[in-house]
Amino acid sequence: MRIHHLNCGSMREIAPATDPDGALRPLPAVCHCLLIETASDGLVLVETGFGTSDIRDPEARLGQDFLGWAQPVLDPEETAVRQIERLGHSPTDVRHIVVTHLHRDHTGGLADFPHARVHLHETEHRAATVTRGDRYPQAHWAHDPHWVTYSGTDGERWFGFDKVQQLTNLPPEILLVPLAGHTEGHLAVAVRRSAGPGPAWLVHAGDAYYYRGEVAPGLPPTPPMFDALQASVETDRPLRLDNLARLRALLAEHPDQVEVVSAHDPWEFRRMSVVDSVGSAA
Ligand SMILES: [Zn+2]
Repeated sequence: MRIHHLNCGSMREIAPATDPDGALRPLPAVCHCLLIETASDGLVLVETGFGTSDIRDPEARLGQDFLGWAQPVLDPEETAVRQIERLGHSPTDVRHIVVTHLHRDHTGGLADFPHARVHLHETEHRAATVTRGDRYPQAHWAHDPHWVTYSGTDGERWFGFDKVQQLTNLPPEILLVPLAGHTEGHLAVAVRRSAGPGPAWLVHAGDAYYYRGEVAPGLPPTPPMFDALQASVETDRPLRLDNLARLRALLAEHPDQVEVVSAHDPWEFRRMSVVDSVGSAA
């Protein structure tokens, strides 16, 4: 399946803690989304970043606190719906959305695709819509999305991860991988690439990590705000660190078969955009 990498929301500029060789120049953090072209089920969007309603009314939709520390740029041209139109598609071609979790920088675009089915873990759905923790933006689902939830009890083993599930009525090339810790029902999304130079599987790990140096060796230290931010957000630190170690092992043990990306690392976003644009041209 053809995969496009979309940045659906630039935020404040970040830089590694130290970078003596100048390997990673400062860049705005991103909202890394995937647009997947399937043969039989239209477009599948993984994550949504910020949406057009966030740009019209940022204080009500995102909150003053978030606007202060994340400093989102809120450029309408970065919304998923505008980028999908520029690629020549209609918003109604997006029949399915998969979200790793329901924090506001992942769900702003849901309302731009009100007809789409929104796939997620049932624990995340419950935490956001029933328990309603204060990090969950209720306005982002005021349009009453068609939720499709997945239990934590079903599924198969996949590269050492448990309870991995296919999406209902979608091709087996898209998998949900439970990866809790950042939130209670956080998921990763594994997508099987069609062809090209990269490994066969691309895993979107959401906010399981913020910076690639947390899972891959040889990079400058983590940007300072990321550790503090992760610690202030995570719902289960031991579980998050355990899942982080599993991602590290996945990359180390299966580099020819699996690649991993996260939601906000701008350097990883740039690198992966190039890999998959080469792949789709091949
Ligand atoms: Zn998050």
